[in-house]
Parts: sequence; C-alpha cells; structure tokens
Amino acid sequence: MRDRWFRSLTPVGWLPRLRDVHFIDSVDLRIDNALVLDLPGNVSIDISDGRIRNIGVPLELKAVETIDAEGNLVVSGFVNPHLHPDKSLLGDSLPRSGHSLEEAVRFTWRFKEEGTVQEIAERSRRAVLECVAAGSTAVRAFADVDTIGGLKPVEGLLEMKERLQEVVAVQVVAFPQEGLFRPGGDIGLLREAMAAGADVVGGMPWFEYSDELARRHIDACMDLAQELDRDVHMLCDDTDDPTSRTLEYLAVQTIERGWHGRVSASHCGALAAYDHTQAARVIDLVRSADITIVSNPHISLVLDGLRDRGLVRRGITRVTELLGAGVNVASGQDDIDDPYYPFGRGDQLEVMSFMAHVAQLTDGPGLRNCLDMVTVNAARAMGLSDYGLETGNVADLVVLRGMHLREAMRRQAPRRAVVRAGRIVARHDVVSHVGLE
Ligand SMILES: [Zn+2]
Repeated sequence: MRDRWFRSLTPVGWLPRLRDVHFIDSVDLRIDNALVLDLPGNVSIDISDGRIRNIGVPLELKAVETIDAEGNLVVSGFVNPHLHPDKSLLGDSLPRSGHSLEEAVRFTWRFKEEGTVQEIAERSRRAVLECVAAGSTAVRAFADVDTIGGLKPVEGLLEMKERLQEVVAVQVVAFPQEGLFRPGGDIGLLREAMAAGADVVGGMPWFEYSDELARRHIDACMDLAQELDRDVHMLCDDTDDPTSRTLEYLAVQTIERGWHGRVSASHCGALAAYDHTQAARVIDLVRSADITIVSNPHISLVLDGLRDRGLVRRGITRVTELLGAGVNVASGQDDIDDPYYPFGRGDQLEVMSFMAHVAQLTDGPGLRNCLDMVTVNAARAMGLSDYGLETGNVADLVVLRGMHLREAMRRQAPRRAVVRAGRIVARHDVVSHVGLE
C-alpha cells in the first residue's frame, strides 16, 4: 500500500500540484483501528486533501487529526438517492388532532402556496443535517415543481445545497409532483426549474389520468433531459395496481434514446403486482436499459396495499428478483416527518434494516446487498465519481458502532463519526448508564 502511495507522488506522467507537497509532512486525518469489509484485521485509513491516501498500515507521517475506531466497522458514506426535504419536518405544522392522508396532502398544497424560499431553505437544511448526522454524505433532493408552489421549492433546495456544500453533496431533482397534464402540472415550469439550477429532471408519470398521458409525460421529461444532457429520476408505478405500466415504457424509451445508465425509477410497486411472466419481461427491459430501481421501504410499507384485506402485501417492488437479474437497486429515506410519512430520521442504517426485513435479506450476502443499496448502488444512481472506500477516492465515510455489519444493523447506534471529503462533519459520543449501580 505504501509503495502505491509514494508512486502517486512521483511526477512521472503526472505533475503534482503545489499544495500536494505538504502530503509528505503529514496527513489531515487518520482513522486508526478500523475494520473495513473484505480486509483482514484492523487497518488505518490515511486521508489528505479530501481523499483517501492509504488503507492499511499507517503511513509514516504525522496526522493532524485522528479518530480511533476501536475496531468498529468503517464503511463508505451513506448515499440517500431519494428524499423530499422541501416537505420534510412539516409534521409539527399538521393538526395534532390527527388527519387523513388526503387532508395532509391538501395541507401540503396550502403550505406550498404560502411558504417562502427562506422557510424551505431553512427547514430542508435541518432535514438534510439529520441525514448527515446519521452518516449520509450525499443526498438526492426532490423539489416539487408545479403551479401551486412555483419555483419556490427548487430555489429553497438550491439555497440549502449551497449552504451545506461543505458537509454533504446534494443533487436537486426538479420533480413534477402533481404530474404534467393534471391541474398543477406545467412542463414550462420544469424547464424553468432546470434553468434555475436543478441538476436532474424528475418525473411522476404513473400519476397522470391515462396511459396515453403517462407516456407523453415520460416523452416530455426525456426530451428535456436529452436537450440539457441531464440524468432522469422518475417515480414509476407507485401503486399496487397491476395495470400501471410506466416503468416498462420508461425502459423502452431509455433504450431507444440511448440514455442507458442515466435513468433511475423509484418505487415501482406495481411490478410486484404483475404476473410473474410480465414482471420478468419488465425486469429484463430495466436491466437492458441500465435503469437504477430505488426502493424506499418505509413509505411503501405504510402506503401500499392499503386496500388489501386479510393478508396485507409488503408494499415493496421485486427487490430480490431485480438484484438477481443484475439490476442496480438502491434504497432511500423518501420522507422525514411529512404528510405522507410521520416518522423518518434520514438514517440509511435504519433504511437498511427496513429493507433487510421487508425483502428478507438477513443472511451475510443479504446484509451486504442492503449496504450496497445505500452506498455503492445509490452512488452509481447519482453518478458520484471517485466514490468508495478505496485509495484515491473521495474520503466520504462513516465510522459505525459494531464490529461487523450485523452488529451495526442490530444496534442502530449513533455513528461514531461521519467524514465528508476528509473533514469530520458529525461525531456522536454515547454515554449510557444501565443497571443498579
Ligand atoms: Zn418520494
């Protein structure tokens, strides 16, 4: 490992920048006694200029700052590929006497109408900081774009992104929550949102009034994304209705337009309601299109299968079948205390636990799949470059509490430390008093 480190300083075919010279004297941060998956024993992780410089025996350099992981597991920074910070933490404003889902949605409309950019920026900042505290170093943030709130949510989330740029990587999705061809929808606004600085073109095709309009919705979003050379992230078939077929059409369009690897689809609950032959056909299309499927177990568990009697379905897409087919599957915390979901902590370790339960991924390989869904797979969906716990990559990582993955998931303990681009952005000391003494 050390050889590789010194080679990286040798100016053969690579001219070191002036500021790299100080690497020779010290590293900015060293994490000692770290357990890293797939590596034997405990290792040290040396970090300089925001990047991982070495994993193994510590470099013979001073460290400006150190963290003693004390044998706990260190993993790549969590990546949340699906969150609505513009609507997060609205729960306290909802009637305490209780409300139906419909009432909560109507309340959100009023809030969107009356809210200000400043309020959205501040509230979304608090929500995303909860994610950071729990280990997320990257978040894909959906901003509603419709005639109710106009561009306020996009502007609020862009301001939040700017304010938090040193602690978390945020991508803003321009998301037509009300559809494009229903009241509140406006494709022109979506274009304006992208011009205002949104990163990703969103979509909500399954919500349109007809299959024909859903297809027009997908076409319009794909046209815009291709014109602007942007990635796409749509909510597809967020229903247990087996006639909802927007994922299928999105996959066909992705293939026909050559947008492979640049499209994500969230929820896709109807896939679980298709008969097995139809589901296998759609999964094959999704794999061919290199679409990432983002499954958010918390929200699907409480909103899907609501009409079921007796046995209530699990409210989840075909996660294990998608994984088995080689599809990139990621998982996110969709909601934090909003009208659709009253809980949520922005905690991807908790998301992993929900996914492990609902998709029955509890053995060793299953737990690893759960971790991949909130780290490498989610990072791939967001197109993050130089991501992952390897020498040379950006130093985004989390020091967990647990000597192995199962223990970390079982305990769900506050993270010992969260590091974003080489800087400690969250730390938790836990003091517990238990027993009679
Ligand atoms: Zn969502």
